[in-house]
Amino acid sequence: MSETFNVTEVFGQNVFNDAVMAEHLPKKVYQQLRKTIETGEELDPMTADVVANAMMDWAIEKGATHYSHWFQPLTNITAEKQDAFISAPKANGKVMMEFSGKELIKGEPDASSFPSGGLRATFEARGYTAWDCTSPAFIREGAIGKTLCIPTAFCSYTGEALDKKTPLLRSMQAIDKQALRILRLFGNTTSKRVTPSVGPEQEYFLVDKEKFLKRKDLIFTGRTLFGAMPPKGQELETHYFGIIRERVGAYMKDLDKELWKLGVTAKTQHNEVAPAQHELAPIYGQANLAVDHNQLTMETMKKVASRHGLKCILHEKPFAGVNGSGKHNNWSITTDDGINLLEPGKTPHENIQFLFVLTAIMKAVDLHADLLRESAACVGNDLRLGADEAPPAIISIFLGEQLEDVLSQLISTGEATSSIQKGKLDTGVRSLPDLAKDATDRNRTSPFAFTGNKFEFRMVGSSDSVASPNIVLNTIVADVFKEAADILEKATDFEEAVHDLIKKYASEHQRIVFSGNGYSKEWEAEAERRGLPNLRSMVDAIPALKTEKAVALFEKHKVFTKAELESRVEIQYEAYVKAINIEARAMIDIAAKQIIPAVIRFSTELANSINSIRTACDAADISVQVELLTEVSALLSDMKVALSKLQDVTAIAAEMEGDSQKQATYYRDEVTKAMAELRNPADQLEMLVDKAFWPFPSYGDLIFEV
Ligand code: ADP
Ligand code: MG
Repeated sequence: MSETFNVTEVFGQNVFNDAVMAEHLPKKVYQQLRKTIETGEELDPMTADVVANAMMDWAIEKGATHYSHWFQPLTNITAEKQDAFISAPKANGKVMMEFSGKELIKGEPDASSFPSGGLRATFEARGYTAWDCTSPAFIREGAIGKTLCIPTAFCSYTGEALDKKTPLLRSMQAIDKQALRILRLFGNTTSKRVTPSVGPEQEYFLVDKEKFLKRKDLIFTGRTLFGAMPPKGQELETHYFGIIRERVGAYMKDLDKELWKLGVTAKTQHNEVAPAQHELAPIYGQANLAVDHNQLTMETMKKVASRHGLKCILHEKPFAGVNGSGKHNNWSITTDDGINLLEPGKTPHENIQFLFVLTAIMKAVDLHADLLRESAACVGNDLRLGADEAPPAIISIFLGEQLEDVLSQLISTGEATSSIQKGKLDTGVRSLPDLAKDATDRNRTSPFAFTGNKFEFRMVGSSDSVASPNIVLNTIVADVFKEAADILEKATDFEEAVHDLIKKYASEHQRIVFSGNGYSKEWEAEAERRGLPNLRSMVDAIPALKTEKAVALFEKHKVFTKAELESRVEIQYEAYVKAINIEARAMIDIAAKQIIPAVIRFSTELANSINSIRTACDAADISVQVELLTEVSALLSDMKVALSKLQDVTAIAAEMEGDSQKQATYYRDEVTKAMAELRNPADQLEMLVDKAFWPFPSYGDLIFEV
């Protein structure tokens, strides 16, 4: 357990990164590849062959036997097909290890099993994967040994994106192009590229594997479908926590190491609010790499848990009544020469470029709040958003006292002349320095908060890919930048024109700024008065992808075609329907085969005991037993009624075909309602029935006794 290792040596050990490339490639080839990475130019076949060969040699040296094109289909996980490096046997029966440039650059996975939302049906059955050379190849240990993984985009024969990486890369190009126009207008002649930077903080639960495996709901759906809150809540004996710390600590250490090997900059690990809940934050990086790394992080979290007798749960709401898990998507815009466009400096009121960027983002978020909300929609998140410990489904922006003050000066007088300066925090201990207080205070209840030099989008679900939120952020901001650049490039007086634009954006989109308690009921009412959308469920959010506004936006910036958007709409409904259907069927199964039989056994024992006491002693008071038996029997009968109801609506739902929106809506309205109705008596029974009879571990067992 106390294994020591050198972090700098371990870091990136399994990555074909820049240093490795420089070492393994002939200088000319290396330069050519760098140019491709930096400018996006096509790689010529000769260079590709040399790169492939070097990559293979390096991978084989590290023990790899296979390679795979690693991609992100329209599910939330990654996919790959493994190929061995071997060539066809020669005449002498021997094989060679082989990996060509062609195989590096393009692959053809058997794509028929991935969701395409109708795209492949209308265009071409095949799917292709293409190397994204801006994300380095890496070696991963899996069930069949070590594999060289090549991060790839996944497209149809005619170029329709069948994945999340392709539109993300396109959105990065869009914001690069428009942000550079803005920078040039502000007199910047040196920056060559603008890239969105992303740092996703990942929350997760850890539970004991043996206990997890005793719960079919966790196995089939990733969350509990039944479960009463432990009566004693959080005040558990401290020695439990002692044990948790050691096991979880060993897990975190191991996880860090595995991630570092993969070049993932795991930086901060800590315990979260709920018992058994934890968080990992990496050091931020360029959006595309950050998305890949977050996928790797989620995979590695699960893999490493197994080694420690644990299960890592990434579901947004694994336990009702306990805090859920999210992913804070920290986002900023950075130039290749290190300028962060979201850095306000000490006196933001004088920083015109910053104020422009800030108000442009206000406009983007206000105009496309529905899209941003949709980008965080996943089945599990419906149970988390608005459930007291997560932002509501309403998008708003938190700016902090200083910036709000600057904006209100701008709006009221047309001029901002001062910035509230940060105070000092007196620690009261002489040997400690006074801590400088952040000028931007914290508001944990905001879904989209400015935190110093970045925005933190906190709505994203813990199991979801961060690709979609970043695609939306990049595109909507690129769009306002474009609109502004079109105006400003024609302006005769730039200073005046930009000033007018800032004032216009700030005044027209003030309604999106909110600094109060986002969890409160009052905010829901206030947001409605302001006309802000409140898309409560995933089913409500999905249509945002196919509005005229959305199609025009994404087509203008060549991020999605209309057909690609329509396919995503289909896939989202499908995902919703499938997930709820599985949950409903799992509930039916668990209720019928586990809970009801257990309750019958318990009531039989109770009845037997009542009878024997009555026979043994006439005078004994058996009112408690009788009352319990009456109560349990009544709940059992409620359960049976609710079970039949759930069976009925699930059968109806499953047969509704043809209109996926209608079907998804029925699942949300009728099936989830029937699920709640079945859960209710079952959870009450759990509190009454002798624990020895209950068929699976309780919430208490799961989250307090890791
Ligand atoms: P907090 O605790 O305030 O949420 P941290 O400083 O711990 O913030 O950062 C949280 C995440 O935000 C980390 O992943 C970090 O790397 C990332 N981050 C920090 N600065 C930026 C930035 N300029 N752009 C994008 N992400 C950032
Ligand atoms: Mg944070």
